[in-house]
Amino acid sequence: MSCIESTVCVAGGGPAGLMLGLLLARVAIQVTVLEKHADFLRDFRGDTVHPATLEVLDQLGLADRFHALPHRKVPAIEMVQGGRRMEMADFRLLRVRFPYLAFIPQWEFLNLLAEVGAGLPTFRLLMRSQAHDLVRDGGRVAGVRFRDADGEHEIRAQLTVGADGRNSAIRMAAALPSRAFGAPTDVGLFKISRRADDPDEGLCIRVGGGSVLSLIDRGSYWQASFEITKGTAPSGIEHVREQVAALAPFLADRVSEIHELHRLDVRIDLLRRWHAPGLLCIGDAAHAMSPIGGFGVNLAIQDAVATANLLTVPLLHAQRHGTPIPPTVLAAVKRRRRQPTVAAQTLQRLIQRFGIEPAMRGDRLRQPIAGSRLVRQAMAYMVGVGLRPERITCLPGSADQ
Ligand SMILES: Cc1cc2nc3c(=O)[nH]c(=O)nc-3n(C[C@H](O)[C@H](O)[C@H](O)COP(=O)(O)OP(=O)(O)OC[C@H]3O[C@@H](n4cnc5c(N)ncnc54)[C@H](O)[C@@H]3O)c2cc1C
Repeated sequence: MSCIESTVCVAGGGPAGLMLGLLLARVAIQVTVLEKHADFLRDFRGDTVHPATLEVLDQLGLADRFHALPHRKVPAIEMVQGGRRMEMADFRLLRVRFPYLAFIPQWEFLNLLAEVGAGLPTFRLLMRSQAHDLVRDGGRVAGVRFRDADGEHEIRAQLTVGADGRNSAIRMAAALPSRAFGAPTDVGLFKISRRADDPDEGLCIRVGGGSVLSLIDRGSYWQASFEITKGTAPSGIEHVREQVAALAPFLADRVSEIHELHRLDVRIDLLRRWHAPGLLCIGDAAHAMSPIGGFGVNLAIQDAVATANLLTVPLLHAQRHGTPIPPTVLAAVKRRRRQPTVAAQTLQRLIQRFGIEPAMRGDRLRQPIAGSRLVRQAMAYMVGVGLRPERITCLPGSADQ
């Protein structure tokens, strides 16, 4: 077993982990990010980059590089019910620099963060490295045990960050107590080809006949998700094909391309405590988000920015003098991020209860709510910006403070 050292060890190279790694390395903090997969090429993750995240990229001087990647700007989220199209959220109503959702395969976004990180001398990203336990020193977390192709290793760190998503091994190893909120539906995911004369819609939610289907334009194909009631067997594929053809008639001639649904367990939960001595959880590891509304990626990025802002000075001190990070500093991250998280999760649960569940019972959704300008603006704000958007305040040169 080999042992390496780093001031900070981040488990998980998703949006939260990579952004945090990059922000800390920028201010000369030694950071090691462990990612269990060999690459970021996974489908069916959040492919949305929100206005508030775009502002963060802009602050990092990365907005032009991001916009040079293949992406699609979506100014509004739409819903189609009974052939009628309605806007649910309109990003053009926001006073922000980037008034749209940028749809981009998440691997492109993560590759960008990893590439920029790789250019910083104190950033280390270990791929194919799966964290599975914590290193403990007395009552403190002192690092992570992980596995790669060569076997077992240990990384000792003054701060360990669990950014390993909703099935976080780190939160489990630390036994941090959480509160689960019911999520009565899972999603079944599939792809279906897109043709040049298909409707020009970035993201559209189609509702009817007891089904909810979301379609995301991925250029050559549609990425689709179909709601499935939790605890039930996936509907037969013939039923899914019929529903897809009914909800999106332009796809009727190719539903035979749907062979199986890739089922994803949906969960909403929130840690009661996000930290322990020497340890902090952020992103989905602290608060699993459902796909509803597409809030999760932005919240994860905002958590990373808040963490870097609050911890840069204590981490630099710890790096120089070997002092532990005071628990009060770790607790400050939850204090800052809890409220935006609770607001986003509450909205997800309301949409679930008053939108998705009635739609799955076959009820017709009431339209006035979706139509109103105020609601479209408020939804756009919650999805695209969120309560308490963060600005990067930890700047290179913090080392001199
Ligand atoms: C089906 C589905 C669709 C979604 N769609 C959207 C959407 O469109 N827009 C949106 O904003 N949000 C969406 N979400 C929510 C969003 O995916 C999450 O909120 C967001 O990705 C959280 O980011 P994160 O960095 O905290 O965690 P993740 O994105 O989960 O990243 C965690 C990373 O850690 C790695 N990892 C896991 N375990 C370990 C380990 N033990 N050791 C090392 N590495 C590990 C994983 O491989 C992954 O790369 C969706 C969620 C689901 C379930």
